[in-house]
Amino acid sequence: MSNISDREIHEECGVFGVYNVSNAANLTYYGLHALQHRGQEGCGIVACDSHCGIDAQSQQNSANFSTYKGEGLVTEIFNEKTLASLAGNSAIGHVRYSTAGGGGIKNVQPFVFRHHTGTFALAHNGNLVNSRELSKYLEDRGSLFQSTSDSEILAHLIKKEKDKSARIYHIIDALNMIEGAFAFLILMEDSLYVCRDKYGLRPISIGKLNGGWVVSSETCALDTVGATFVRDVEAGEIVIFDKDGMRSVDYSKFKHNYLCAMEYIYFSRPDSDLERCNVHAFRKESGKLLYEESPVDADIVVGVPDSSLSAAVGYAEASGIPYELGLVKNKYVGRTFIQPSQNMREKGVRMKLSAVRSIVAGKRVVLIDDSLVRGTTSRRIVALLREVGALEIHVRIASPQITHPCFYGVDTSTFDELMSAHKNIEQVRQAINADSLAFLSEEALYKASTRKELCLSCFNGNYPTALYQSIAEANKDSKF
Ligand code: AMP
Ligand code: SF4
Repeated sequence: MSNISDREIHEECGVFGVYNVSNAANLTYYGLHALQHRGQEGCGIVACDSHCGIDAQSQQNSANFSTYKGEGLVTEIFNEKTLASLAGNSAIGHVRYSTAGGGGIKNVQPFVFRHHTGTFALAHNGNLVNSRELSKYLEDRGSLFQSTSDSEILAHLIKKEKDKSARIYHIIDALNMIEGAFAFLILMEDSLYVCRDKYGLRPISIGKLNGGWVVSSETCALDTVGATFVRDVEAGEIVIFDKDGMRSVDYSKFKHNYLCAMEYIYFSRPDSDLERCNVHAFRKESGKLLYEESPVDADIVVGVPDSSLSAAVGYAEASGIPYELGLVKNKYVGRTFIQPSQNMREKGVRMKLSAVRSIVAGKRVVLIDDSLVRGTTSRRIVALLREVGALEIHVRIASPQITHPCFYGVDTSTFDELMSAHKNIEQVRQAINADSLAFLSEEALYKASTRKELCLSCFNGNYPTALYQSIAEANKDSKF
């Protein structure tokens, strides 16, 4: 039986696309490698050899889509031989952690769809909230699904109409039927379409490279492949790359910029800029604001590696309390690592994190973590620091209390598992055995990001989209 407190929670997916640059699959490989932190369960690349941008019209029927994908890390799945089999000047790729649809190779993206009007490939980051309703709607009209992925729903929606109107109208209609968080890449024989949800929940950026185009969930991957950042795709926008260059169409008049706050707080790499705000700078500022809101007298500031280090630096700088390396992470505990048995754990075998005794012993510690989901990490680290002789441990969390589940592709656990959904701050403090505990305010998140809009649904339950009955049922114990 799986033990809930030992089950890993995870982030959503990452997408990367290339249009009209030679060796597109190779570039996509490097791009996906830079996005590996967004998903480690599976990855895939679809390349299209259609001489894109040269004479797409006449090449249309000879376009050749090739696919390679598997379950594992980017470096485990691809090698020179497999990349060489993915010919063409355009490609899309995906790194996955299973969100909607569960695991298994059949759910590893991108997907290729063959249709008499043309072949296309799809990759998707995010989660649709009305997928159950849409798959029923489509099945009632004769669609048969091969996977449980949201991408397949979009593909069926795009191709459900038999009329010959321009392709873009099919895509606009399809996007207007789906609800939720998404960044979709649609690779056609002669073009690449990039679509972002009208709430702006999931990020996607555009770069330019060698006369062609690159798109990525995060700008860190643009830097990796040497592309120059052009701009972010806007909420409710479809950006089209084809032989005429880059064009833009809005699929919806409704537009907001509720970018997922957890992208800043936890998921994205510190060297990425999300809508022109650098992730490290955001975290550092949030650490500073955390000190201003919840100061404490202590000897050292320690961050939980790796995602909390920027916030810890911010807290240390603002407070004047020295930042110390009180915790060290073993980077080589991978997916396939054999987890210690209960017996080994009781003997104190801890593979991921170690406390540095000589730094922590006899000290009053401010422990900074970026978020508290089920409380497992904080509880374990507080115990670890006490074992090596910390005098006091003051936990400061660089985000508000997570009280609601996320339906937009982020696995922040179910309502039942969320510690702050059931406990007030004092009860959480007792549960993790800290001397004091404080969380950052929502106002501080707006301030650190210099944004007027952010998705904060998992902190306050105000979901920007409609929530469908199926989801409400799945979380019937929750308050909405
Ligand atoms: P927990 O131990 O359940 O309280 O989770 C909090 C820890 O997990 C923090 O150290 C975060 O850095 C990290 N974290 C937050 N959200 C996620 C997520 N969706 N997937 C994986 N780790 C996360
Ligand atoms: Fe991100 Fe939380 Fe909103 Fe989900 S609910 S999109 S994790 S801010």
